Amino acid sequence: MADRYAVFGNPIAHSKSPQIHARFAEQTGQDLTYSAEHIEEHDFEAAVERFLQGNGKGLNITVPFKERAWALAQWRSERAELAGAVNTLYRLDDGRIAGDNTDGIGLVRDLDDNNGVVLQGARVLVLGAGGAVRGVLQPLLAAGVASILVANRTVSRAETLAELFAEDGRVQACGFDQVPADAFDLIINGTSASLQGELPPIPVATVGMQTACYDMMYGAEPTPFCRWASDLGAARVIDGLGMLVEQAAESFRIWRGVQPDTAPVMQALRAALRAI
Ligand code: NDP
Repeated sequence: MADRYAVFGNPIAHSKSPQIHARFAEQTGQDLTYSAEHIEEHDFEAAVERFLQGNGKGLNITVPFKERAWALAQWRSERAELAGAVNTLYRLDDGRIAGDNTDGIGLVRDLDDNNGVVLQGARVLVLGAGGAVRGVLQPLLAAGVASILVANRTVSRAETLAELFAEDGRVQACGFDQVPADAFDLIINGTSASLQGELPPIPVATVGMQTACYDMMYGAEPTPFCRWASDLGAARVIDGLGMLVEQAAESFRIWRGVQPDTAPVMQALRAALRAI
């Protein structure tokens, strides 16, 4: 019987993970199935146990269970530890449940490998201080950025994140109204403001002719943040579709020991989005 994989979330109907992993499996000749499972809030831990006791080999975990997956994991990677959230579960040879977080490396690979954005020495402005932002700070620091300013609507949440990296010294926090009117090398929108058709209120001078702008969100149409950045003449404007595919590829590599080719999968997803 083929090895089983799944993504657990609630809601889950619109997840693209089954399509992405089916394409990876086909491309690399791996015999596996991957499904999207709607999990009731009260049942998450028991559902993970049931899945990993059968021929279930690995799980992706999405909203709202990433923190509970972190708590459930009996071994965690360093990046998962710092992220405080887990999006990838599997069993170690000794039977323990292992937890990893591939969101941050997914973002870094999309920026660096797919879009040629230079991270080494970059001055980065990150908007938002939720789970997604927490997961990407350490991988960005590891990629050699010079500084990260985390700006958030609720300033205390940005400050809490910056404190986690106090020893490193490269992460600062502020509110949107305190963001300096200087051009940054890279601006990453990690808020969910685009979902409500909104835009974090930051100075237009943060976008210069050399600035790359990245929205973790994506959709059939450019997000409000991507439109704003394009209108201001940003050097690069990128949405989060590549991050989604790259984080999936890293989970696939962890589970199967094979690195899939992400480019054709991104192209197929982009074409499907445009056809909506
Ligand atoms: P959270 O709910 O944990 O955090 C939401 C963040 O957005 C908070 O900082 C919140 O500010 C801020 N926010 C919400 N609404 C507004 C608004 N109207 N104006 C300004 N700020 C706002 O969400 P996540 O961190 O899990 O996800 C954030 C985004 O990243 C989502 O759009 C998600 O789809 C995307 N994402 C994409 C991934 C990918 O692979 N491409 C992977 C993971 C996430 P406050 O603290 O003040 O409430």
